[in-house]
Amino acid sequence: MKLRSCAKTDVGLKRKNNEDLFFVDEKQGLFIVADGMGGHAAGEVASRIAVETVFQSLQTSDWDNPHEQLKQAIEKANRAVEKAANSNNAWQGMGTTLTVLLLHQQQAFLAHVGDSRAYRFNNQQLEQLSDDHSLSGEQLRQGMISTEEAHSSGFGNILLQAVGISPELDICLKHYPLAVGEHFLLCSDGLSDMLTDTEIAHILQKEKNLNTRCDQFINQAIAAGGKDNVTVVMVQIDEI
Ligand code: CA
Repeated sequence: MKLRSCAKTDVGLKRKNNEDLFFVDEKQGLFIVADGMGGHAAGEVASRIAVETVFQSLQTSDWDNPHEQLKQAIEKANRAVEKAANSNNAWQGMGTTLTVLLLHQQQAFLAHVGDSRAYRFNNQQLEQLSDDHSLSGEQLRQGMISTEEAHSSGFGNILLQAVGISPELDICLKHYPLAVGEHFLLCSDGLSDMLTDTEIAHILQKEKNLNTRCDQFINQAIAAGGKDNVTVVMVQIDEI
């Protein structure tokens, strides 16, 4: 498999700290976005512990069962963040989203918890692969609100589960066959809250260069208010 990737993060305009974190390992085909939460900069600690735990537990993996291995790595991260939170009063209640993409043997494996998103872009079409584990995401799945209402909902950021906070995680696991020329986008809600899917698709259709696309995502999220930390990871599949 041949792939290219680009990743960027920005603190945005309103936050003092950047609690988002990305991890990219092109060789292994492993890509992670985490969006930490918690007072006293604990969100930064939560996202760092979670990402480190996941990539360390997957480092020696021979991928005989990718979904099970991704699931176990996220469960391990859940315990690690919770343990750290219990060890320090300032870190109590901290947690993080985790969106993990593994590209292996002509397949894309997705594992995620929270509302950081994974999209696929192919034939000029954008498709959200992940479910938002948020109140508005749940209302959307149940048909109670429309996509537009979900996007403008004040409940969008209320997470139904997060790594380090939920004793039992309901990890979303999906897999897809890979196609040459398709792209994956992982992002924190600092992008998806600021830009609609139509605006995200427009950047992907207009810009061909990965680096320019990532810059455009960050710049437009900031131009739209930059209310939160914004993180994007883009992967392009050149050969499978
Ligand atoms: Ca966020």
